[in-house]
Amino acid sequence: MMKQPLFILILSLVVLAACKSGNGQTAADEAERPLITVTIEPLRYFTEAIAGERFRVVSMVPKGSSPETYDPTPAQLVALAESKAYLRIGHIGFEQTWADRLADNAPHLPFFDTSRGIDLIHEEHTHQHTEEADAHAGHAHHHSGGVEPHVWNSAVNARIIAGNVLQALCSIDPAGRETYVARHDSLCRCIARVDSLVRQQLSSPDADRAFLIYHPALSYFAREYGLRQISIEKEGKEPSPARLKQLVDECKAQGIRIIFVQPEFDRRNAELIARQTGTRIVSIHPLSYDWEEEMLNVAAQLGQPSVH
Ligand SMILES: [Zn+2]
Repeated sequence: MMKQPLFILILSLVVLAACKSGNGQTAADEAERPLITVTIEPLRYFTEAIAGERFRVVSMVPKGSSPETYDPTPAQLVALAESKAYLRIGHIGFEQTWADRLADNAPHLPFFDTSRGIDLIHEEHTHQHTEEADAHAGHAHHHSGGVEPHVWNSAVNARIIAGNVLQALCSIDPAGRETYVARHDSLCRCIARVDSLVRQQLSSPDADRAFLIYHPALSYFAREYGLRQISIEKEGKEPSPARLKQLVDECKAQGIRIIFVQPEFDRRNAELIARQTGTRIVSIHPLSYDWEEEMLNVAAQLGQPSVH
């Protein structure tokens, strides 16, 4: 049993090394490069992987902040006006709140939705969303319609995002096309390798088929790999005492062993459930720049739950 995890660990390190090479830029070149703004760190990773040294890429939502609720600083709005493009991840809270205002703030800036073409998960709605309310807003309104926004935590989606980033870069900088196509292809090979490593981990007979999570960042991951994600938070709200009790019961009934938490969200409810059920709390970083590492980390946690 020891052999397989060790093999996968070594393979993972090789994949990571291969995926991270080729960005050896100096600070001086960097300041001169034209700027692209994106919403979150994982999208910065995909964009840099394809743009190489032709652009400098910055994220709107800094490390440690929640992209569901973040507000940009005045300095970020100035930097945005100097950007050549804005790339959105699609439907995250920050974009729902700010996209129109950002577009008003920088009217000549092209906006690209990198989630275009993704098979979106639609959340069930409890509140009534009326057409009149939309019409009242007076202009094109990017309402989510209850779209699950965490599209990037999936290999299938990552390939679609990469394709959209490639198109965006070619449209704002046609001269770089050859570079972008080559780098896009190598990114897609990395994504494919990560996908097969994740599948290997999850195919272990000991692997968990269901997990608890505070904030439902792994909806697309769960769909892609046939897992069941049970979210503690519901529609951005903390659970009621009745819901907590229900979660504790569900945890016991299903033999759930892991509760994922992420640093951007409160973990007290997760700890409460863990104490009552003996489940293990595991920190994940779905907003990390290191997309590959994070995908492999989640898979490793589910694949060998007893090793830690
Ligand atoms: Zn989120």
